[in-house]
Amino acid sequence: MPDGFNGLAAEDQLGGTVSVLDAVRSGTARTKPEISRLTGLGRNVVTQRVNQLVATGLLEERGFAPSNGGRHPRTLRFRGDAGHVLVAHMGARHLSVGCVDLRGEITVQQSEGCDVADGPKVVLDRVCELFDQLLCTRPGQVWGIGVGVPGPVDFGSARTITPPGMPGWDRYDVRGHFVQRFGCAVWVDNDANLMVIGEARGGLARGENDVVYLKVGTGIGAGLISNGRIHRGAQGCAGDIGHILAVSGSTVPCRCGQVGCLEALAGGAALIREGMAAGEDGTSSFLGAVVSSGRSVALADVGDALAHGDPVVRELVTTAAQLVGDAAARIVNFFNPGLILIGGSVAHIGDIYLATIRQTVLARALPLATRDLRIARSPLGSHPGLTGGAFLVIDELFSRERLGRWIDQRTPVGRPDLVS
Ligand SMILES: [Zn+2]
Repeated sequence: MPDGFNGLAAEDQLGGTVSVLDAVRSGTARTKPEISRLTGLGRNVVTQRVNQLVATGLLEERGFAPSNGGRHPRTLRFRGDAGHVLVAHMGARHLSVGCVDLRGEITVQQSEGCDVADGPKVVLDRVCELFDQLLCTRPGQVWGIGVGVPGPVDFGSARTITPPGMPGWDRYDVRGHFVQRFGCAVWVDNDANLMVIGEARGGLARGENDVVYLKVGTGIGAGLISNGRIHRGAQGCAGDIGHILAVSGSTVPCRCGQVGCLEALAGGAALIREGMAAGEDGTSSFLGAVVSSGRSVALADVGDALAHGDPVVRELVTTAAQLVGDAAARIVNFFNPGLILIGGSVAHIGDIYLATIRQTVLARALPLATRDLRIARSPLGSHPGLTGGAFLVIDELFSRERLGRWIDQRTPVGRPDLVS
């Protein structure tokens, strides 16, 4: 259900139209009598709104529902296949793209390695190529594009703002890059924000009002759902916890230019760096063998060493998890979430990682704040990020403002984003 859905409070015409559409597309009502009961709108008003939405191509009447006495009501269906949404989700080292229907279901997706440090032109041109490939297998109109990037984003202007470790991305017009090529509406957000939206709309955080998504990949970031809505903050960088001071007096440099940041000490890049050092000086025999074979240590090697019970690596991973747990405990005291989801590649390095975070949070946060707190692992993979990107776009397309402009101009079947 989109933010702000409240059928009973629907007072005006546009609010009514949005409520009717939301009721059908969320699957909570399938017939006009059901919509009327759900929204509190009169039968004539519901009929008018349904006719309007059928004329715009968003709803269709199909078959008949069972009757409760009297005539069988027509069954209404949201035309989720009326258009496509293209979604890209980028981490520091990987890229996933997907084609999604208007119900938010991923119809085709693809992932590959990438390096955001190659700069926006190279990376986003590759995203465009992958989008073109997806469209070859799923021809149709693109109604909107959603993009998640691993750094702070000014949501209104859809530009990345001084993202650490992403040379060339500062104030880059990400929206413009896609508008030029695809000519449709584009929204850009931070990757952790998309992941928390995805989990809230189609995953583990469904029905939760206050959620923190901690993404621990190469870097560390967080997405926040507050009172059922994404919380971006005044400038769009809420949840950027990777660069809070984790250990005072630390001299470990961070890619942001500071020292002692959480990400520099406990992110995936930190585990690789420390793992490499433990392999080179021979304190970890398992990683020593990796280095001797002429390879650099990868995160998967750290995970393998952990699984083989390497004591030095176990210590490395536990220390990193404690630092993330300390930061999470501070967030818990400050924000009081009902659910913390831990995602990203490091979250899946071994069971001890989540267990240590859980222990640290319970030991450090207020008893009241942890009384009913759940801490769980978000599934590995791009699914939450792509789903989040899809709903970011879909909820904007069918928002009061955009849907209203679309219907006012009596545009027949077509793309709501093209209405100026
Ligand atoms: Zn930093």
